[in-house]
Amino acid sequence: MDFLKTLGIEKANQGTSTGSTWLGSLSEDISSCSPVDGRQIGVVAATTAADYNEVAAKAQLAFPAWRSWPAPRRGEVVRQIGDALREHKDALGRLVSYEMGKSLQEGWGEVQEMIDICDFAVGLSRQLYGLTMHSERPGHRMYEQYHPLGVVGIISAFNFPVAVWSWNAMLALVCGNTCIWKPSEKTPLCAIACQQIVAKIFKANNVPEGVCNLISGGSAAGEWLAQDTRVALVSATGSTRMGKAVAATVAGRLGRSLLELGGNNAIIISKDADLNIAITGALFGAVGTAGQRCTTTRRLIIHEAVYETVKEKLKQAYAQLKIGDPLDPANHVGPLIDTGAVTQYLNAIDQCRAEGGTFLVEGGVLKGAAYESGCYVKPCVAEAKPHFSIIKQETFAPILYLLKYQTLEEAIALQNAVPQGLSSAIMTLNLREAEQFLSAAGSDCGIANVNIGTSGAEIGGAFGGEKETGGGRESGSDAWKNYMRRQTNTINYSTALPLAQGIRFDL
Ligand code: NAD
Repeated sequence: MDFLKTLGIEKANQGTSTGSTWLGSLSEDISSCSPVDGRQIGVVAATTAADYNEVAAKAQLAFPAWRSWPAPRRGEVVRQIGDALREHKDALGRLVSYEMGKSLQEGWGEVQEMIDICDFAVGLSRQLYGLTMHSERPGHRMYEQYHPLGVVGIISAFNFPVAVWSWNAMLALVCGNTCIWKPSEKTPLCAIACQQIVAKIFKANNVPEGVCNLISGGSAAGEWLAQDTRVALVSATGSTRMGKAVAATVAGRLGRSLLELGGNNAIIISKDADLNIAITGALFGAVGTAGQRCTTTRRLIIHEAVYETVKEKLKQAYAQLKIGDPLDPANHVGPLIDTGAVTQYLNAIDQCRAEGGTFLVEGGVLKGAAYESGCYVKPCVAEAKPHFSIIKQETFAPILYLLKYQTLEEAIALQNAVPQGLSSAIMTLNLREAEQFLSAAGSDCGIANVNIGTSGAEIGGAFGGEKETGGGRESGSDAWKNYMRRQTNTINYSTALPLAQGIRFDL
């Protein structure tokens, strides 16, 4: 466990920080146990209400100082964070893999996403463009500019314990905001490691205390952020249940929220699909990260002409999957996050069967040597019918439902007939089908792909989804605008004061 030492993780850790300063005790409020082997990695002290208040006050106090730094100078600090992440990629990737349970390759991939968003944010720090527009009044100029919001609260989920924070924080920082991060209580050590990395860079650059803050705890700590009028924007990533609670609280005080919630993603496999691409995309999408990605493929909507062939190929592919320690590169599928997630997986299988589903690939919990944590489950595949209620829910586990269709209109209707709207894909070599899927009458999701699965996204694009996924957009494109307030400016350089819309006000 050399990586813990490299990252400055102790057996007992303080869980509250305003940058370089750590607050509070070393109590054992949050225990971090690895789903890989069930061992306790460390404990973290939860943030107290009093310490939260101190953090929020520091974040608010640091804001005027930080926003006065020129944006490219803030970008230079973020560039150095990116370099520090490059240096710590191996150790941080291992911690992500061990604490969360995803494969080592995916753990490193997650750190790479952090590095990529740092690069993106550095470029942005010399842009953050507003538009200029022509005034209807002579001798007038109009333009718009973007200013930082203030304190940004970041609530993150366990399944991307470091990347989601960086998507938010790096953009928020170059935009001139200060941040308070409330990571998942299931992955508290990943957050402590990130805070340590940032603290060194901040210290070297004399960044004021309070610019990047960390609080630890469960839903109550998240609720503090949602309720706090000092927090201008709450960016919350997690379940739809959590998003509905946060959205209601933040809206109640007319604050801003950015919501990245659950998905229920489907791939349509046309009769004109390249089946090799389709099967590979579906398999990685369904079993990668043990089905614990918001973009995991949960439904395959398959044309009746290729349905039996796809079934056969899936059966063969699933038979080759190796389940076990995610730090061993020979394994494809690691554990679920905890035994509570295993129960939910088993309940979904029972419900599917009760609704009339039949299993092409059987599920089950793995027992015995190497599976002591009790969190390893078999990825499974069920044949389902459109009216099943289980297929409308997101079960955060590797369960794939197969549905059959005849016309593309029917397939698109099936794809859209769930409350969530995150990611979607069509596998087809037919241009007309692809374009119909991407048109306004096609997929209703925030992400729609052709000949690529639903899972995994590049940081250059705006990431997020519609309906119960929450409507937020993070990461690339112009998602940075969420972290700023727009101001329209009109300047009169004439010798008169003409009014807009030709209105006269003669005295
Ligand atoms: P979760 O909702 O249980 O917890 C997420 C975070 O919200 C945690 O930090 C938790 O402490 C906090 N929280 C919970 N209830 C809260 C409340 N009432 N007020 C404030 N904070 C609260 O989710 P999880 O199990 O950690 O993550 C899995 C879920 O996250 C899945 O639904 C997945 O699809 C979703 N997710 C979505 C995206 C996306 O970008 N759309 C990305 C990753 C995960």
